[in-house]
Amino acid sequence: MPLDIEAIRADFPILERRLPNGKQLVYFDNAATSQKPKCVIDAMSRYYEEYNSNAHRSIHTLAGEATTALEYARERIAAYFGTSPGQLIYTSGATEGINLVAYAWARENLGDGDVIVLTEMEHHADIVPWQQLAIERGVEVRYVPINTESFTLDMDALEVAVVDASLVCVVHVSNVLGVRNPIEDIIDMSHAAGAKILLDCAQGAPHERINFDQLGADFVAISAHKMAGPTGIGCLLVKSDVMEQMVPFMTGGLVIKSVSTEGTTFQEGYAMFETGTPRIAEAIGWGAAVEWLDQFDMREVHEHINNVASWTAAQMREIPGIKIYGEPEREDSSGAVSFLHESIQSQDLALLLDEGGFAVRTGHHCAQPLMDALGVPSTNRASFWIYNTMDEAEAFIAHLQHVIRRFS
Ligand code: PLP
Repeated sequence: MPLDIEAIRADFPILERRLPNGKQLVYFDNAATSQKPKCVIDAMSRYYEEYNSNAHRSIHTLAGEATTALEYARERIAAYFGTSPGQLIYTSGATEGINLVAYAWARENLGDGDVIVLTEMEHHADIVPWQQLAIERGVEVRYVPINTESFTLDMDALEVAVVDASLVCVVHVSNVLGVRNPIEDIIDMSHAAGAKILLDCAQGAPHERINFDQLGADFVAISAHKMAGPTGIGCLLVKSDVMEQMVPFMTGGLVIKSVSTEGTTFQEGYAMFETGTPRIAEAIGWGAAVEWLDQFDMREVHEHINNVASWTAAQMREIPGIKIYGEPEREDSSGAVSFLHESIQSQDLALLLDEGGFAVRTGHHCAQPLMDALGVPSTNRASFWIYNTMDEAEAFIAHLQHVIRRFS
């Protein structure tokens, strides 16, 4: 059954919103964060209104309800990602997930002589922790270039780079280009070289169903807020044998078995890495989000997003002075259209689009090495998701044409 986009839109109260200038909101900033369906907002409100309590501590009724809801959410989220709850560590998002790999695994297992392979396409979240580790532990950080004609990774260079690597860190889908990297091949290449592989799936998870156990990556970092869930939560999926090589990073309450003035013994498994009061409302909200997403075939979702994005990109290519960075028309592209106009500054263009009600992102998108490779300081980016429509795309093109006629 084809997706009923109008019914989907009805689940998102914010899409009714008019901006202060009376313009109808058209939300094309989904790669920054997605909107939240009402069931997610309701699940979080219900927790706060009816059973707000700390989890895993007291024995009263509310505490029991909060603990049950929290653990149910872990099971739902792990099942959504095709794995068991024991391989899921809650984090604040993809950034914290990647830092957790750097601090709890790499710091303990890598040092002088080890090579970490990154790509020029990485988000800063998957660059800076490794640069810090290089300073601290003497590991070598190597960058795989992109091909600036096809906007894809140079796979020949990657094959050479991983040969003596200990860890390969690759973005699943680029937040700037919408390009999906061939992660299955990269996992195979990395493992053949004896390296561990970390996938940054912050942008991939909202666009395709990730099955962690089938995929076979060692680490997968995900943010909830880009896939209909709340901000403040995400997870790091870790293979259980690799989790055994990790040491506690942030410590305090909950991660311990016992503490005395002599020292501390720690919990095992994921519990060793989730310290302090859990993200209870956020986990409950994310659980509701994956239940909501579970009703869809993500291949159909991808096809819908790709149709809207590729039609928009094709129209934009006809507008004089517009240059697109990426190939959103490719079938595996994930709904991000990065662009610049030759004479209107990107900030100005974003403001002019906002005046028409169109929310797009502008800036370096936390991907400055990629901007350097593209030879630009920033781009505008329209990014689409499940609830965006062709009507919105048509209105966007009409407004963009109007703005460009007026100001260039
Ligand atoms: N990786 C990619 C590819 C991203 O697009 C983002 C956020 O935009 C992140 C990592 C960081 O995610 P978060 O800010 O949710 O931790």
